[in-house]
Amino acid sequence: MKTLDLIVPCYNEEAALPLFYETVTETLRTLSGYQTTLIFVDDGSSDRTLETLKRFARSDSRVTYLSFSRNFGKESAMLAGLRASTADIVGFLDADLQHSPSLLPDMLQSLEDGYDVAAAKRVDRAGETKLKSRLSDAFYQIANRMTDVEIDPGAQDFRVMKRVVADALLSLGEHRRFTKGLFSFVGFRTKWFPHENAVRAAGETKWNFKKLFVYACDGILAFSDLPLKLPLYLGGGLCAGAGLYALIALIVFLCGKAVSPVHAVLIVMLFLCGLILFAVGVLGLYLARIYTETKGRPVYIVKETNLKK
Ligand code: UDP
Ligand code: MG
Repeated sequence: MKTLDLIVPCYNEEAALPLFYETVTETLRTLSGYQTTLIFVDDGSSDRTLETLKRFARSDSRVTYLSFSRNFGKESAMLAGLRASTADIVGFLDADLQHSPSLLPDMLQSLEDGYDVAAAKRVDRAGETKLKSRLSDAFYQIANRMTDVEIDPGAQDFRVMKRVVADALLSLGEHRRFTKGLFSFVGFRTKWFPHENAVRAAGETKWNFKKLFVYACDGILAFSDLPLKLPLYLGGGLCAGAGLYALIALIVFLCGKAVSPVHAVLIVMLFLCGLILFAVGVLGLYLARIYTETKGRPVYIVKETNLKK
């Protein structure tokens, strides 16, 4: 029998948890061949989330929980769940039933069929405001252009994966985690499951504009060093512009026309500004290397081998 750990980050979910627990246990009843553990991570809730989890655990030995000392964010909750998990198959799902547990049997079947990851992909944006959809689209466009990982705009955190994938995620030692990007970074054979946007079972979304903005910036900064190198290109452009300006002034002068000294001052200023920016960009190049090294990501991830350790 295979073991399955389902990690559920919860932040002030007392309203949604009873229905979630009921629905997920109903789905688990239909699953055969898996010994399941639910790993709830209470992300510093201020409501009765922890009490609710304790109540579940008293009557159901499959329920485990860990509770944070304060709210650390969903990314930290997901990492804590991952670290706590030891099963052959590990899954993530939200506590608000927006990730419908009814998809789990098919997802698990695809792992049996040889996929390493089964992940849900949003096919619509029902229940989202137009502004949120637009901003989210813009984010994915920018992120995919600026970074070296490809993140599908519809990709959700709702997924199940084999142990080897969970271990690969754990081998990424960085502190500011952007799991959507990390999923993409580790690779592996992924089967996508179209998933309709469901409305929250109860309670409210924990994301506001500010949190989403910080999350988006984290996503880009975790996978791109372009902002650090930007002065290099800007400075180079300014110097080239100053050169062109000087050339035009020289041609005008050689044609026998008077060139105002103001132009000479502008050319020198432009060139010096460009030079300074360029120098900052060179520093950025080194800083980008240091940044990449400090994240300590593995140079490669092995999927399988027959080498003896
Ligand atoms: N969550 C969390 N910590 C947070 C914010 C959210 O653990 O700081 C959990 C939340 O309880 C839920 C999941 O992450 O299970 C997704 O959050 P939410 O439903 O608020 O996000 P949305 O679905 O609106 O993007
Ligand atoms: Mg939600």
